[in-house]
Amino acid sequence: MSWLLDIARPDIRALRPYEHASWEPGLVRLHANELPWRQDADTSAGGLNRYPEPHPLELAARLAPLYGVAPECVLPGRGSDEAIDLLVRAWCRAGSDSVLICPPTFGMYGVCARIQGAGVLEVPLLRERGYALDIDGLLAACTPAVKLVFLCTPNNPTGNSVAARDILQLASALRGRALLVIDEAYADFSTAPSCATLLARHPGIVVLRTLSKAYALAGARCGVALADPEIIGLLRRIIPPYALTQQTIEVVERALEPAALRRTRERIAGIVAERARVAAALSALPGVLKVWPSDANFLLVEFDDPARALERTHAAGLLVRDLRRSPGLQHALRITIGSVEQNEHLLRSLA
Ligand code: PMP
Repeated sequence: MSWLLDIARPDIRALRPYEHASWEPGLVRLHANELPWRQDADTSAGGLNRYPEPHPLELAARLAPLYGVAPECVLPGRGSDEAIDLLVRAWCRAGSDSVLICPPTFGMYGVCARIQGAGVLEVPLLRERGYALDIDGLLAACTPAVKLVFLCTPNNPTGNSVAARDILQLASALRGRALLVIDEAYADFSTAPSCATLLARHPGIVVLRTLSKAYALAGARCGVALADPEIIGLLRRIIPPYALTQQTIEVVERALEPAALRRTRERIAGIVAERARVAAALSALPGVLKVWPSDANFLLVEFDDPARALERTHAAGLLVRDLRRSPGLQHALRITIGSVEQNEHLLRSLA
């Protein structure tokens, strides 16, 4: 057993996983208490009267080349949210272990840790350096209790990417002590190379990806953890069987076909072009203090009167994310890049 599992919860390592009904497609299933017919409303290919594949290995194998890793390094789950939760539950003992996060960042890291009863240490990003990591602060805060360090690149809600040298420095410093979880939910909109390329040299890295953003499948709930097979193996012991529905498995498999992938790439390029156009247009509006550079499909925008900007967008029928209660973001709203028409509507509402 390597250090990756050494630092995980011993009770989870020892856990005997649930024994689900065997998965032997082609044989008649009289072993899972299902019904033999389908609902009239069931439009799935596989049939919703049947449980889906307990751990969708075929789907993992099809996602692997998308992210440039081996199939045994992929765990699909219900969004990257589920991977965050599983990591915290498997690596953090309630009452003694901690996670380290860098706010302002995605809220689920802290929430999952608190639900688990783990501590949450915070080393804020450095606003004056474009929300860069405070690498010295991070290294100093990494006590032996810290089992997971969460980075988000591009970061939600600031939009910037973490510098590659910072990631490498952290991965080396954390070796043998803690996993470095790198959330790449928005990486499809960025030109930075994925940290999945680092997995072979840095087995303590876990990369999170999702089909909710660039693949336009938020409603399907599918995300993946990419990591060393030992890490994936432990997560697979605690993910509930049948986590992904039959419909989700089918729609994701269709989204991975070559024509659909081409279409996705075109649409990403469209969002990236719109991001630049909307950022420039917003910057020129009176009342806009700052539009932060973004590698994602949203913009962090600071207004002199954010309440008024919220009122105006809402009156125009548009929802944007109010960040005023986040520390250091009292003037900020997060605005998702929509279609050209939606973006025009947004700009008119604020003009
Ligand atoms: N990570 C980040 C940074 C996010 O912004 C989100 C969604 N807002 C998620 C993970 C979760 O994505 P999902 O569960 O849909 O894959």
